[in-house]
Amino acid sequence: MKYRSTRGAMAPLSFSDILLEGLAPDGGLALPEHLPTVTAATLESWRSLDYADLATEILSLFIDDIPKADLSRLTHAAYSADVFPGPGMVPLKPLKKGLSLLGLSEGPTLAFKDMAMQFLGQVFEYVLEKRNTTLNILGATSGDTGSAAEYALRGKRGVAVFMLSPHGRMSEFQRAQMYSLADANIHNIAIKGVFDECQDIVKELAGDLEFKSQYHLGAVNSINWARIAAQVVYYFWGWLRATSAPGQQVSFAVPSGNFGNILAGHIARQMGLPIRRLVLATNENNVLEEFFRTGIYRPRSADRTHATSSPSMDISRASNFERFVFDLLDQDPAKLRACWEQLEHSGEFDLSHLLPQFESRYGFVSGVSGHSDRVATIKSIYEETGLLIDPHTADGVKVAATFLEDGIPMLVLETALPAKFSETIQEAIGEPAPVPEHLRELAALPQRVQIMECDAKAVEEYIRQHAPV
Ligand SMILES: *Cc1c(COP(=O)(O)O)cnc(C)c1O
Repeated sequence: MKYRSTRGAMAPLSFSDILLEGLAPDGGLALPEHLPTVTAATLESWRSLDYADLATEILSLFIDDIPKADLSRLTHAAYSADVFPGPGMVPLKPLKKGLSLLGLSEGPTLAFKDMAMQFLGQVFEYVLEKRNTTLNILGATSGDTGSAAEYALRGKRGVAVFMLSPHGRMSEFQRAQMYSLADANIHNIAIKGVFDECQDIVKELAGDLEFKSQYHLGAVNSINWARIAAQVVYYFWGWLRATSAPGQQVSFAVPSGNFGNILAGHIARQMGLPIRRLVLATNENNVLEEFFRTGIYRPRSADRTHATSSPSMDISRASNFERFVFDLLDQDPAKLRACWEQLEHSGEFDLSHLLPQFESRYGFVSGVSGHSDRVATIKSIYEETGLLIDPHTADGVKVAATFLEDGIPMLVLETALPAKFSETIQEAIGEPAPVPEHLRELAALPQRVQIMECDAKAVEEYIRQHAPV
């Protein structure tokens, strides 16, 4: 299988090639030249597989330059009971008639990003060793991505992580989670600034091509195709758990920000998984909901992005959206480039002539959930079921409820556990969320973090001194 770019000007590359790159050289995003399809008979044959074996089957459809036996070793290391200790690894948790949670947040950082990142950590180490090279991951985080990346890459050979975070602006839990890691290849750098300034430093350093190639700078952001491919697996897993016969349809509701999670659902559906609807839920930052309602994509600047109580969805420029638009435009790179040129010109593009296809052809519907929805949903689900859900998942549940249909199971992707966002839980039910046993000692562990001025040069100097070249 070869990969191409949405912008149409990349020579075909293998999976391992695109794994180590961020954006394609033409500024686009990598996609398989042809999506694999899965027949109903194959799907049925997967019912008895455990999560790691299912991941091997599905990922081998996207990865043909790693022998299947090796891939199986990687998936078993990523999806082991040590890493995901929850019952059944990815449990289905019924909420009420027709509505369940797909438990994606049982990993080390209590958010769904562990699902893809743990595989990424394994496959990075494998490919770097094969190619006898090293990689220095440079990233910026306001919480979830950085910690998931650090837990996936800690102690891995050939990789170091330099993760910038805004000094004094992360929750106590997030700080404890990241800064208590003692592995020599993990470098936490707290920048005296806000998240966007951290992001700017990353862009500046990654834009210095000489520095970038000398120090093998890489990224683990959500545009990485390996992350999308790994996320495709749990849509199949969820379908297999929620159905008992071929052809039964299931809908998924997805709390969305960068459009990475729900894009994997779109890919699974295009591969033939019987998905009826993909319900996209946003918070107050509703750029994507606006697109699915009007056909107009109008990203917002950082200063017009609200800080909400579902902070991991506070995104107004969805980095993976281009891959979906590529399909909408019948995979025509020229049309896609025209849209992005339009975007640069006027700050928006208009695909309202395709509006009827969003649902009929691709199954997409959408809705918004605000702070009071979130709080009310957490409270009512808790009172009705005894289950506590996090604010992001609550956005998904709120929007999913408006699209329930008789006879069609609706699975809401549980994107985080409530312990991560205790303030909102306190507001909803009058007490904080319980912290899982193994994380209670976190707060007491010594923390290791380098505090720096908001200065790209200082970060560059630090990398020069600490990177294994
Ligand atoms: C990252 C994240 C999201 C958004 O996922 P996307 O793939 O960016 O759409 C939602 N909820 C939580 C808890 C997250 O960490």
